[in-house]
Amino acid sequence: MSKGTDISSSQGGSSELPAVAFDSLPGFWALLGRGLTRRCAWCGDRKAYFTGWFRRQDACGACRHGWRRGDEAFELGATTANIILTFFSILIAILVAVVITWPDVPTAALIVIIGSLAVLGPALWYPVSFTLWQAVDLFMRRPEPSELAGHGDADL
Ligand SMILES: [Zn+2]
Repeated sequence: MSKGTDISSSQGGSSELPAVAFDSLPGFWALLGRGLTRRCAWCGDRKAYFTGWFRRQDACGACRHGWRRGDEAFELGATTANIILTFFSILIAILVAVVITWPDVPTAALIVIIGSLAVLGPALWYPVSFTLWQAVDLFMRRPEPSELAGHGDADL
């Protein structure tokens, strides 16, 4: 959380600009696609909220809509998305390894690979967990007309 505060202070100039107005947002699958490809759920731009792998700003570099949308606990949802993505990666890795090597499954090698995924997964999925949760959040909490109009979003 302290990272976000540091970054917001350095992004003060861009947050003063009004957010881009939208008539509406795409449906669930399009939002999900944007989130899974680390793009802004609002505008689909690749800049999204990240200036580095772990460094993020409070608002999208392209449309200037904020990712928090007034929700102070947004990071909790992003963390949950990160855990789900990491567990899903581990499950896929186990399934693929077992199917490919059956019936002589290399258990020791599998434990090392899966253990590495469990440790590295959260870091690898870090930016996607934010954009994915942003997409889910935008679907579950449809934007207010004032947000679509580009007011009152990026001022957190
Ligand atoms: Zn955007």
